[in-house]
Amino acid sequence: MDNTSMVQRSLRHVWHPCTQMKLHESQPLIPVSRADGVWLHDFEGHRYLDGISSWWVNLFGHNHPHIRAALIDQLGRLDHVMLAGFTHQSVVELSEKLAQLTGLGHAFYGSDGASATEIALKMSAHYWRNTGRPGKCRFVGLAGGYHGETVGALAVTDIAIFREAYAPLVRLAATVPSPDARCARPGESAVDVAGRAAGALQAWLEQHHAETAALIVEPLVQCAAGMAMHDASYLRGVRALCDRYEVHLVVDEIATGFGRTGTMFAHQQAGIRPDFICLSKGLTGGTLPLSAVLTTDTVYQAFYDDDVARGFLHSHSYTGNPLACRAALATLELFEQNDVLAGNVAVARSLTAAFAPLTAHPRVRNARQLGMIWAWDVADALPGFSRRYYQHALAQGVLLRPIGNTIYAMPPYVMDEESSGFLARGALAALQATLAEEAAHG
Ligand SMILES: *Cc1c(COP(=O)(O)O)cnc(C)c1O
Repeated sequence: MDNTSMVQRSLRHVWHPCTQMKLHESQPLIPVSRADGVWLHDFEGHRYLDGISSWWVNLFGHNHPHIRAALIDQLGRLDHVMLAGFTHQSVVELSEKLAQLTGLGHAFYGSDGASATEIALKMSAHYWRNTGRPGKCRFVGLAGGYHGETVGALAVTDIAIFREAYAPLVRLAATVPSPDARCARPGESAVDVAGRAAGALQAWLEQHHAETAALIVEPLVQCAAGMAMHDASYLRGVRALCDRYEVHLVVDEIATGFGRTGTMFAHQQAGIRPDFICLSKGLTGGTLPLSAVLTTDTVYQAFYDDDVARGFLHSHSYTGNPLACRAALATLELFEQNDVLAGNVAVARSLTAAFAPLTAHPRVRNARQLGMIWAWDVADALPGFSRRYYQHALAQGVLLRPIGNTIYAMPPYVMDEESSGFLARGALAALQATLAEEAAHG
């Protein structure tokens, strides 16, 4: 098998995600034959450093021996069983562990992030219906929020390019201002921006709390909006407002969970307890699709009844799939076996040092970092910057995919000195090449 034939066959029959397929007439598809650690290998001996953890899912590198061994063992015991009326060891142990880690004791499973969003929204509205307040059935999210792209999830995803074509299908949620620290006015700190955004939410809730079921937020980092970061005080503010106005707080930790922001879950840096937590992506260490929604005893009890219709009758065929749950357990075991969060502090320090020349580049603005996420905005980039940068990065052997004019890195946690240097040099060289190309073609 060679690269060319794999690409041709793919373009003939595979419809790729988040892609204008015609673009592949000029921008080649990258065929991957295997992956190991931080590296993706093609069929002809080239390799690419996975600088964005394959869309933010990978934590401990590809083909991790511990996760692989657990999956092979699980496959020999139980591949799959439906979770209605049945249960199994992996889903029980995973649910116990997630309850321990989050303090929310009831786990409902889906297969991807968007379905976790929809589960949380449905559960919230159904909770209010079961408790005699069926009018509380609308949602509010943040400007630039991203919670997935199925029709229900698009209601709370405020990213025009993902939503515009489907606007007539979507029952749009309300949008309140983002606490993005880059919105600071002269003299304002990140805390001030957070306070201002919380004030806007308060004004909105004052008017609309009676018809509002839940607020959904991405805690600390709105990743898809271009790694927009905010101060933790915002989360304390919204928790207090949600309590005061009797609105659920859903934290979407799909991208920020599992150590990505420095703590196991981002909302923990604010010391708050949400009503719902959505998890996916890193949950299985990047091996298998799985998502979970965790919630409180209070929510759970509102569904517990002799009346079938008061139950949460949602399901997916693969809900609680044993292989995916076992991969998640093996991933959590890695957190227990090694002090991953402490180790990441050292990894992050050395990466920040390696990125210093990129951070100091004269066209870079708003360099920012939290945990294992780095981002840089490029001033005066021309339209198409993201696509051109991506190509130049690949030529350097690194996978980096800017969002608009924001370059970001979200690498696996197993970066060492050598791979960190490789990634940082590639990121800088790609910027230089992209800007040179823009200058030449104006
Ligand atoms: C990726 C993501 C989702 C959607 O997850 P999918 O598995 O792609 O459906 C939802 N919320 C956040 C914050 C995400 O980053």
